[in-house]
Parts: sequence; structure tokens; C-alpha cells
Amino acid sequence: MNELLGKKAMVTGGSRGIGAATAIALAEKGADVVITYNASADAAATVVKEIESLGRRAVALAVDAADAVAVGDGVRRAAESLGGLDILVNNAGVGAIAPIADLTLADVDRVLAVNVRGVYAATQAAVPLLSDGGRLIHLGSCAAGRVTTPGMTLYAMSKSAVTGLSKALARELGPRRITSNVIQPGPINTDMNPADGPFAGVQRANLAIDRFGDSTEIAAAVAYLAGPDAAFITGTELTVDGGHTA
Ligand code: NDP
Repeated sequence: MNELLGKKAMVTGGSRGIGAATAIALAEKGADVVITYNASADAAATVVKEIESLGRRAVALAVDAADAVAVGDGVRRAAESLGGLDILVNNAGVGAIAPIADLTLADVDRVLAVNVRGVYAATQAAVPLLSDGGRLIHLGSCAAGRVTTPGMTLYAMSKSAVTGLSKALARELGPRRITSNVIQPGPINTDMNPADGPFAGVQRANLAIDRFGDSTEIAAAVAYLAGPDAAFITGTELTVDGGHTA
């Protein structure tokens, strides 16, 4: 129940969806949490209140994940306000589902800036601040392992990059007992991928369990990887996709 008591966690993009559920799940297990947000200040404030109601400390920072300098500063501010850093969850991400012919180079720059460059910048800033035995947990996608629908070129490419980063980090940080892993969600009902959205039908057709997942089901997997029982799990992917890629 309280296995993360005293731990200091940062969740990027913690104002809505999987990030918000993750921040709350970590706090429920005892962690103090800094979340970042870009556009949703009110939603971020609601998450902060919910964490505080659990008796944990919470801070929300406005940090655009596409601005790598701001991202690094945000990580340092988070560690300063928490008094250290044990867990970084790289969650902030954007989608871009369209045929390759319809995606512009501006789309490529926008998606890679958030999903790859922002993740790299946050991690680079966090590594010297993380405690030994700390945790790096990155939100990838089951599309990095198997693509089941058309229109995924840019998004799948961005999430595959995260897998490469995570594996390399596991090798580099193993001597400090810092683990690095990717959670690979399947279809999860959020603003990014609503269960009644235009792409829902084609995704549902590939699910072994006939429903979209809930953000709390991804948050639970993140909390597990952040906890003491997962100390020997590193450099791997945990797919939570209702059998979407089975
Ligand atoms: P949502 O769109 O519902 O929420 C995205 C979150 O990221 C929000 O809190 C948003 O904050 C934040 N965010 C977006 N852009 C930025 C930015 N430039 N700077 C800072 N924060 C930003 O997405 P999900 O919760 O569905 O997705 C979370 C992660 O899980 C993403 O990495 C996504 O790719 C991944 N994922 C999701 C799946 C799904 O089916 N939902 C499937 C596979 C992976 P704000 O509103 O303040 O901008």
C-alpha cells in the first residue's frame, strides 16, 4: 500500500489521461509528485488537489515538452521542490494518425519534439539527479512492437525511438541500480484516443478483451515498475493492451 512512501516522483503531462491517473496512483502508494502540463492548467490544479487530499505533496509546473530547454529546467525545478528525485515518468505525448502522404514535415517536427526530443531532454536532466535505485518509466506504445492499423508511420516511429532510448539507458544506469522500462499501452480511453472516436472501431477489432483500457490500468503498471518488487526489471517493455498485439 505505502511502498512508495517518501519517494519523489515527476510525471510529465500529468494534467489529463494516463499521466493524471499515474500521478494519483503514485501518490496513493505514498509518493510526493510533481506534474507538468502545457495547456490544461485547471485540470493540472485538480490533480494537485486530489494528490494533496491523499496527504501527499504535489506541484504542477507549466512546461512545454516541445521546448527542450524548458523541459530540463522543469526537471531541475521539480527535484528542487521535492528535495530530490527517485522516479521520472515520461508520459507527455501527442498523436498523429494519418497516411504518410498527408503528414507534413511540420507534423514530423512537432511529434518528434514532444515524443522523442522532450523525453530525451527530461531524461538527460534527470539522470544526474536520480537517486541510486531510481526509476525511469517511459510511455511508449504497443505500436512500437506491432502495427495493426494504417496511418501509424509517424507515431510508431516516435514510440520506437523511446524503446531504443530506454534499453540504452538500462545498460548505462544499471551500475546505479536505476531501471529504465517502457510501458506499451494499447487502446486506452482518453482525450487522445476516445473509445467512441473515429479510430475506435478498427482498434476494437484487434482487441482480445473487447473494450478499451482505462487510464488507471496503465497507471497501475507504472506504479508496479516504480515499486520495490520491480527492482530487477530493466531494459524491457511491459505491454498493457488487452491483447491488441497478441
Ligand atoms: P492525452 O492526450 O489524453 O493527455 C496527454 C497529456 O500530455 C496531457 O496531460 C497533456 O497536457 C500532456 N501534453 C501533451 N502535449 C504536451 C506538451 N507539449 N507539453 C507538456 N505536456 C503535454 O494522452 P494519453 O493520456 O492518452 O497519453 C499519454 C501517453 O500515453 C502518451 O505518451 C501517449 O502517446 C501514450 N499512449 C496512449 C495511448 C492511448 O490509447 N491513449 C496508447 C499508447 C500510448 P496539456 O493538456 O496540459 O497539454
